[in-house]
Amino acid sequence: MNYKVAVIPGDGIGPEIVTEAKKVLDKTGEKYGHTFEYQELLMGGCSIDAYGEPLTDETLEKARAADSVLLGAVGGDVGKSGWYKLPPDKRPEAGLLKIRKGLGLFANIRPAVLFDELSGACPLKEEITGGGFDFVVMRELTGGLYFGERKTIEEDGVLKAIDTLTYDENEIRRIARWAFDVAMKRNKKVCSVDKANVLDSSRLWRKVVKEVSEEYPEVELSDMLVDNCAMQLVRDPKQFDVILTENMFGDILSDEASMVTGSIGMLSSASLGATKLGLYEPSHGSAPDIAGQDKANPLATILSAAMMLRYSFDLEKEADAIEAAVKQVLKEGYRTIDIMDEGKTLVGTKQMGDLVAGHI
Ligand code: NAD
Repeated sequence: MNYKVAVIPGDGIGPEIVTEAKKVLDKTGEKYGHTFEYQELLMGGCSIDAYGEPLTDETLEKARAADSVLLGAVGGDVGKSGWYKLPPDKRPEAGLLKIRKGLGLFANIRPAVLFDELSGACPLKEEITGGGFDFVVMRELTGGLYFGERKTIEEDGVLKAIDTLTYDENEIRRIARWAFDVAMKRNKKVCSVDKANVLDSSRLWRKVVKEVSEEYPEVELSDMLVDNCAMQLVRDPKQFDVILTENMFGDILSDEASMVTGSIGMLSSASLGATKLGLYEPSHGSAPDIAGQDKANPLATILSAAMMLRYSFDLEKEADAIEAAVKQVLKEGYRTIDIMDEGKTLVGTKQMGDLVAGHI
């Protein structure tokens, strides 16, 4: 089959890491009989330089017409680059907000995978993480406290700030379905995280998630309070498969989950909406400090491409093949500088891409 992939290399290390992900996708396509047709698009600082804005409507339209979108990273050195003298809505990162909104993406998946081979990078004790762990945090992206009404008023000479946390049942239902769909492709466990002992929005969240779970009898559902989840992530991360949660809790928990894996160059992510069209990107930024030096770790982007195959194209065995190739390369002792350890073999961005492609 032929898949149309909009590719947004972006700025900094973006073009280098995306090139390696395409290399691995092409090798996977060759082996399994698919072709990936890429359309390169500008977003971020490079789009500001070319068109005066971080994402043009025309580019957004092209992304919308693709089967899926693969993104490197956008942005430059915040202290030095002229892009940051522009008003906030004209800066590189404004392109990210515009594309997520424009593609109607409401669910974000951030996997937290501790590869056994990289356990040295994990800040947790060996007895907690031995054998590695593998779970995802699924965060609602477009509702809740960050999008509710807010105001600051003065009452009797005292300043008062008000933020509102709103969810309707449809917003909860659509992301819950994604969480259960994702769990069906994994270990069939969803842990829904809320603060139902205090918040009405959480009580509705819990009720709707329970209703959706009835459509998925094979998936085991549990509920957990967010404060407990924050503790469990460092006490016993192996217990989780899919953590489903609302926007603000997900913001915090997904960063905590990333931290327990310990290596920023390994963290992939996906943003999904009502259709199969998703946006796949590494969780890290454009790393301007190492751009153009063949030092960037391309594995987060390669693993994001594997997620694209799994969630947008339903190509399970192809996604498995990429993940297995990454594991094998790590097992053989190859490391980019960010994950380098004693006794291992240091490789650059291109060689890492070649090695993974070679193991497909
Ligand atoms: P960063 O993630 O780019 O870099 C933080 C540190 O991690 C740097 O030392 C960098 O060299 C290192 N690093 C990051 N990715 C790496 C990789 N793949 N391999 C090896 N080392 C890696 O974060 P930052 O320095 O705070 O931000 C730099 C720019 O990226 C800023 O303009 C910021 O706004 C932007 N940014 C973009 C995104 C995105 O595109 N989604 C996300 C975060 C930050």
